[in-house]
Amino acid sequence: MFIVLLGAPGSGKGTVGKILAENLKLAHISTGDLFRENLKNETELGKEAKAYMDKGELVPDEITVKMLAKRMEESDTANGAILDGFPRTKNQAVVLDKLLEERGNKVDMALNIDVPFDEIVERIANRRSCRGCSAIYNVVFNPPKVEGKCDECGGELYQREDQKPEVVQNRLEVYKNSSAELINYYDAKHVLRTEKAGDKAGRTSYDVAEKIEKEIKNGWN
Ligand code: ADP
Repeated sequence: MFIVLLGAPGSGKGTVGKILAENLKLAHISTGDLFRENLKNETELGKEAKAYMDKGELVPDEITVKMLAKRMEESDTANGAILDGFPRTKNQAVVLDKLLEERGNKVDMALNIDVPFDEIVERIANRRSCRGCSAIYNVVFNPPKVEGKCDECGGELYQREDQKPEVVQNRLEVYKNSSAELINYYDAKHVLRTEKAGDKAGRTSYDVAEKIEKEIKNGWN
C-alpha cells in the first residue's frame, strides 16, 4: 500500500505519517527529512538543496526525484510506504506513478490533511525539532518533558531556519501555488481522501491517523 500525504507545512503530515507507518508496517519516507539528513552529512545533494530550503522554496524536481527514487529502492518499501512531502508538484506525481507502475504498485490513497492557514502559522511558530532524531514538538501543546531536550533521544531541540515566520509565509505561498493541481490530479484518479483537522475542526493529527488506519484495515478501495 502506498499512501501520499498532502497538506500544508504544519498540517500534521509528519505525525500522521509516523503513526500510520508504524501501525500499518509501511516505510515512512519524508523528503524533508531526507534533505535535512543530507544537509547534516554535508553531502553534495545537501549542498545543492540548502539554498532552496533556507528560503522555503521547493528544491528542483531533478534533485528531489533522484533522491526519492533511490530511497524507494530500499527493502523496507517492499510492503509499501507513506510518502510525506512527496509529491509536491504535478511532475513529481507523474514520476511517482511511473516509478510505482514499474514495480507493479500504485498510489492507493492521497490523504489531504486540511488545516486552516491561520492555525498553521501559529503551530509552526511553536514548533521545535530535534537535531538528533528529527522528532517534532509543539512548545504549547506537546512540550518535551525537559525544556529544550528531546524525550526520545535526549537531542537538542531547535527552531529550524524554515520555521521562522518570514520563511513560513513563503512556504505557505509555495504550497498554495502547487497544492490545487495535486489535489485535482489525485481526485481524478479517485484516490483522494480529505480530512479536516485542527482546533476549529476539533480534530488532532491522532484523530485523523486513527480514522484512516481503521478505514484501511476495513479495506479501503
Ligand atoms: P514542510 O513542513 O514544509 O512540509 P518539509 O520538512 O517536508 O517541510 O520540507 C522542508 C523543505 O524541503 C521544503 O521547504 C523544500 O525546500 C524541501 N522539500 C521537501 N520535499 C520536497 C519536494 N517533494 N520537492 C521539492 N522540495 C522539497
